[in-house]
Amino acid sequence: MAELNLVLLGPPGSGKGTQGERLNEDLRLPYYATGDILRGAVRDETELGREAKEYMDRGDLVPDEVIVGVIAERIDSSEALDGFILDGFPRTTPQAEALDAKLSELGRGVTAVLLIDVSDDEVVRRLGGRRTCEANGHVYHVEFEPPKQEGVCDIDGSPLIVRDDDKPEVIRKRLETYHEKTKPLVDYYDSRSVLRRIAGEAAPQDVAEQIRRTLATLRMEQDEAV
Ligand code: AMP
Repeated sequence: MAELNLVLLGPPGSGKGTQGERLNEDLRLPYYATGDILRGAVRDETELGREAKEYMDRGDLVPDEVIVGVIAERIDSSEALDGFILDGFPRTTPQAEALDAKLSELGRGVTAVLLIDVSDDEVVRRLGGRRTCEANGHVYHVEFEPPKQEGVCDIDGSPLIVRDDDKPEVIRKRLETYHEKTKPLVDYYDSRSVLRRIAGEAAPQDVAEQIRRTLATLRMEQDEAV
Protein backbone atom coordinates (compact mmCIF):
# COMPACT_ATOMS: atom_id res chain seq x y z
CA MET A 1 0.00 0.00 0.00
CA ALA A 2 1.21 3.54 -0.78
CA GLU A 3 2.55 5.62 2.06
CA LEU A 4 0.31 8.20 3.74
CA ASN A 5 2.11 11.41 4.72
CA LEU A 6 -0.59 13.51 6.34
CA VAL A 7 -0.65 17.06 7.69
CA LEU A 8 -3.43 18.36 9.94
CA LEU A 9 -3.87 22.09 9.43
CA GLY A 10 -6.21 24.42 11.30
CA PRO A 11 -6.36 27.07 14.00
CA PRO A 12 -5.58 26.27 17.63
CA GLY A 13 -8.56 24.48 19.16
CA SER A 14 -9.86 23.17 15.83
CA GLY A 15 -9.66 19.58 17.09
CA LYS A 16 -6.42 18.57 15.38
CA GLY A 17 -5.29 16.76 18.52
CA THR A 18 -8.54 14.83 18.96
CA GLN A 19 -8.61 13.78 15.32
CA GLY A 20 -4.87 13.13 15.20
CA GLU A 21 -5.03 10.69 18.10
CA ARG A 22 -7.94 8.90 16.48
CA LEU A 23 -6.06 8.66 13.17
CA ASN A 24 -3.00 7.43 15.03
CA GLU A 25 -5.07 4.48 16.35
CA ASP A 26 -6.98 3.82 13.13
CA LEU A 27 -4.10 4.08 10.69
CA ARG A 28 -1.32 2.85 12.97
CA LEU A 29 0.94 5.62 11.73
CA PRO A 30 3.16 7.68 14.04
CA TYR A 31 1.54 10.89 15.23
CA TYR A 32 3.79 13.90 15.72
CA ALA A 33 2.16 16.84 17.49
CA THR A 34 4.71 19.61 17.84
CA GLY A 35 2.74 21.33 20.64
CA ASP A 36 2.85 18.09 22.70
CA ILE A 37 6.52 17.51 21.88
CA LEU A 38 7.38 21.06 22.99
CA ARG A 39 5.26 20.93 26.15
CA GLY A 40 6.96 17.63 27.03
CA ALA A 41 10.35 19.28 26.53
CA VAL A 42 9.34 22.20 28.76
CA ARG A 43 8.17 19.75 31.47
CA ASP A 44 11.40 17.78 31.24
CA GLU A 45 13.44 21.00 31.22
CA THR A 46 15.47 19.91 28.20
CA GLU A 47 17.49 22.30 26.05
CA LEU A 48 14.61 22.37 23.53
CA GLY A 49 12.14 23.16 26.32
CA ARG A 50 14.26 26.00 27.62
CA GLU A 51 14.49 27.46 24.11
CA ALA A 52 10.74 27.14 23.46
CA LYS A 53 9.10 28.12 26.74
CA GLU A 54 9.12 31.91 26.53
CA TYR A 55 7.66 31.88 23.01
CA MET A 56 4.95 29.40 23.95
CA ASP A 57 3.90 31.31 27.06
CA ARG A 58 3.39 34.43 24.95
CA GLY A 59 1.39 32.63 22.24
CA ASP A 60 4.21 33.19 19.74
CA LEU A 61 5.68 30.54 17.50
CA VAL A 62 9.06 29.12 18.41
CA PRO A 63 11.69 29.91 15.75
CA ASP A 64 11.51 27.77 12.60
CA GLU A 65 15.03 26.40 13.00
CA VAL A 66 14.21 25.09 16.48
CA ILE A 67 11.21 23.04 15.38
CA VAL A 68 12.26 21.98 11.87
CA GLY A 69 15.10 19.81 13.18
CA VAL A 70 12.79 18.07 15.66
CA ILE A 71 10.36 17.04 12.91
CA ALA A 72 12.96 16.24 10.25
CA GLU A 73 14.53 13.70 12.59
CA ARG A 74 11.22 11.94 13.23
CA ILE A 75 10.19 11.79 9.57
CA ASP A 76 13.54 10.26 8.76
CA SER A 77 13.10 7.50 11.35
CA SER A 78 12.23 3.89 10.45
CA GLU A 79 8.86 4.09 12.23
CA ALA A 80 7.67 6.71 9.70
CA LEU A 81 8.43 4.69 6.55
CA ASP A 82 4.75 3.97 5.78
CA GLY A 83 3.76 7.53 6.59
CA PHE A 84 2.98 9.83 9.50
CA ILE A 85 0.45 12.28 10.86
CA LEU A 86 1.68 15.80 11.57
CA ASP A 87 -0.30 18.05 13.92
CA GLY A 88 0.82 21.64 14.44
CA PHE A 89 3.58 21.44 11.84
CA PRO A 90 4.19 23.13 9.48
CA ARG A 91 2.93 26.43 10.84
CA THR A 92 4.85 28.86 8.61
CA THR A 93 5.83 28.95 4.94
CA PRO A 94 9.54 28.31 5.72
CA GLN A 95 8.48 25.25 7.77
CA ALA A 96 6.37 23.98 4.85
CA GLU A 97 9.31 24.48 2.51
CA ALA A 98 11.63 22.68 4.92
CA LEU A 99 9.16 19.78 5.12
CA ASP A 100 8.97 19.57 1.31
CA ALA A 101 12.75 19.67 1.08
CA LYS A 102 13.17 16.90 3.68
CA LEU A 103 10.54 14.70 2.06
CA SER A 104 11.89 15.18 -1.44
CA GLU A 105 15.37 14.29 -0.14
CA LEU A 106 13.76 10.99 0.92
CA GLY A 107 11.97 10.64 -2.43
CA ARG A 108 8.62 11.33 -0.81
CA GLY A 109 6.03 14.09 -0.63
CA VAL A 110 3.02 15.27 1.37
CA THR A 111 0.06 13.01 0.47
CA ALA A 112 -2.69 15.26 1.84
CA VAL A 113 -3.25 18.26 4.07
CA LEU A 114 -6.50 18.12 6.01
CA LEU A 115 -7.65 21.66 6.75
CA ILE A 116 -9.95 21.59 9.78
CA ASP A 117 -11.97 24.75 9.29
CA VAL A 118 -13.24 26.48 12.45
CA SER A 119 -14.22 30.14 13.00
CA ASP A 120 -12.40 32.44 15.43
CA ASP A 121 -15.47 32.70 17.70
CA GLU A 122 -15.62 28.93 18.02
CA VAL A 123 -11.88 28.79 18.77
CA VAL A 124 -12.29 31.26 21.64
CA ARG A 125 -15.25 29.29 23.05
CA ARG A 126 -13.38 26.01 22.86
CA LEU A 127 -9.98 27.09 24.19
CA GLY A 128 -11.41 29.35 26.89
CA GLY A 129 -13.13 26.33 28.49
CA ARG A 130 -10.30 23.88 28.00
CA ARG A 131 -8.73 22.33 31.10
CA THR A 132 -5.62 20.20 31.00
CA CYS A 133 -4.40 17.59 33.46
CA GLU A 134 -1.22 18.79 35.08
CA ALA A 135 0.48 15.40 35.19
CA ASN A 136 -0.14 13.94 31.72
CA GLY A 137 -1.92 16.49 29.57
CA HIS A 138 -5.36 14.77 29.41
CA VAL A 139 -7.80 17.31 28.02
CA TYR A 140 -11.31 18.29 29.23
CA HIS A 141 -13.76 21.12 28.55
CA VAL A 142 -15.86 22.76 31.27
CA GLU A 143 -18.92 22.76 28.98
CA PHE A 144 -18.49 20.03 26.37
CA GLU A 145 -16.48 17.38 28.22
CA PRO A 146 -16.39 18.06 31.96
CA PRO A 147 -14.51 15.69 34.28
CA LYS A 148 -16.57 13.64 36.76
CA GLN A 149 -15.24 15.77 39.61
CA GLU A 150 -14.64 19.46 38.92
CA GLY A 151 -10.96 20.34 38.64
CA VAL A 152 -9.70 16.74 38.86
CA CYS A 153 -8.54 14.44 36.05
CA ASP A 154 -10.73 11.30 35.70
CA ILE A 155 -7.77 9.21 34.60
CA ASP A 156 -5.00 9.97 37.08
CA GLY A 157 -6.57 12.22 39.73
CA SER A 158 -4.18 15.08 39.02
CA PRO A 159 -5.38 18.72 39.18
CA LEU A 160 -6.82 20.25 36.02
CA ILE A 161 -5.29 23.58 35.05
CA VAL A 162 -5.71 26.26 32.39
CA ARG A 163 -2.68 25.98 30.12
CA ASP A 164 -0.74 29.25 30.12
CA ASP A 165 -1.43 29.56 26.43
CA ASP A 166 -5.19 28.97 26.91
CA LYS A 167 -5.52 32.21 28.93
CA PRO A 168 -7.80 34.72 27.10
CA GLU A 169 -5.15 37.25 26.07
CA VAL A 170 -2.88 34.46 24.85
CA ILE A 171 -5.73 32.84 22.88
CA ARG A 172 -6.20 36.13 21.03
CA LYS A 173 -2.50 36.26 20.29
CA ARG A 174 -2.42 32.66 19.08
CA LEU A 175 -5.30 33.39 16.70
CA GLU A 176 -3.51 36.47 15.37
CA THR A 177 -0.40 34.35 14.84
CA TYR A 178 -2.47 31.72 13.05
CA HIS A 179 -3.96 34.24 10.61
CA GLU A 180 -0.68 35.96 9.95
CA LYS A 181 1.76 33.04 9.75
CA THR A 182 -0.16 29.79 9.24
CA LYS A 183 -3.19 30.71 7.12
CA PRO A 184 -0.97 31.32 4.04
CA LEU A 185 -0.31 27.57 4.05
CA VAL A 186 -3.90 27.02 2.89
CA ASP A 187 -2.97 28.57 -0.47
CA TYR A 188 0.45 26.96 -0.40
CA TYR A 189 -1.04 23.46 -0.26
CA ASP A 190 -4.09 24.27 -2.36
CA SER A 191 -1.84 25.32 -5.22
CA ARG A 192 -0.06 21.95 -4.89
CA SER A 193 -3.44 20.16 -5.07
CA VAL A 194 -3.06 18.36 -1.75
CA LEU A 195 -5.49 20.42 0.36
CA ARG A 196 -8.69 18.75 1.58
CA ARG A 197 -11.22 20.82 3.53
CA ILE A 198 -13.00 19.43 6.57
CA ALA A 199 -15.92 21.28 8.24
CA GLY A 200 -14.45 21.41 11.77
CA GLU A 201 -17.39 22.88 13.68
CA ALA A 202 -19.33 19.64 13.48
CA ALA A 203 -19.28 17.17 16.41
CA PRO A 204 -15.97 15.28 16.80
CA GLN A 205 -17.60 12.04 15.58
CA ASP A 206 -18.83 13.83 12.49
CA VAL A 207 -15.46 15.42 11.79
CA ALA A 208 -13.88 11.97 12.13
CA GLU A 209 -16.38 10.60 9.58
CA GLN A 210 -15.56 13.40 7.10
CA ILE A 211 -11.87 12.58 7.50
CA ARG A 212 -12.53 8.88 7.05
CA ARG A 213 -14.38 9.55 3.79
CA THR A 214 -11.67 11.92 2.58
CA LEU A 215 -8.97 9.33 3.23
CA ALA A 216 -11.01 6.62 1.50
CA THR A 217 -11.25 8.83 -1.61
CA LEU A 218 -7.53 9.49 -1.38
CA ARG A 219 -6.78 5.75 -1.25
CA MET A 220 -8.92 5.21 -4.33
CA GLU A 221 -7.07 7.96 -6.18
CA GLN A 222 -3.73 6.47 -5.09
CA ASP A 223 -4.81 3.01 -6.31
CA GLU A 224 -5.91 4.42 -9.65
CA ALA A 225 -2.57 6.19 -10.02
CA VAL A 226 -0.55 2.93 -9.82
P1 AMP B 1 -0.29 23.68 19.99
O1 AMP B 1 -0.52 22.76 21.11
O2 AMP B 1 -0.14 22.98 18.65
O3 AMP B 1 -1.32 24.78 19.90
O4 AMP B 1 1.15 24.39 20.22
C1 AMP B 1 1.39 25.14 21.38
C2 AMP B 1 2.51 26.12 21.16
O5 AMP B 1 3.71 25.44 20.78
C3 AMP B 1 2.29 27.13 20.03
O6 AMP B 1 1.51 28.23 20.45
C4 AMP B 1 3.73 27.52 19.69
O7 AMP B 1 4.27 28.41 20.64
C5 AMP B 1 4.46 26.19 19.84
N1 AMP B 1 4.49 25.45 18.56
C6 AMP B 1 3.89 24.28 18.29
N2 AMP B 1 4.13 23.88 17.02
C7 AMP B 1 4.92 24.83 16.47
C8 AMP B 1 5.51 25.02 15.18
N3 AMP B 1 5.32 24.15 14.19
N4 AMP B 1 6.25 26.14 14.98
C9 AMP B 1 6.46 27.03 15.96
N5 AMP B 1 5.92 26.93 17.18
C10 AMP B 1 5.15 25.84 17.45
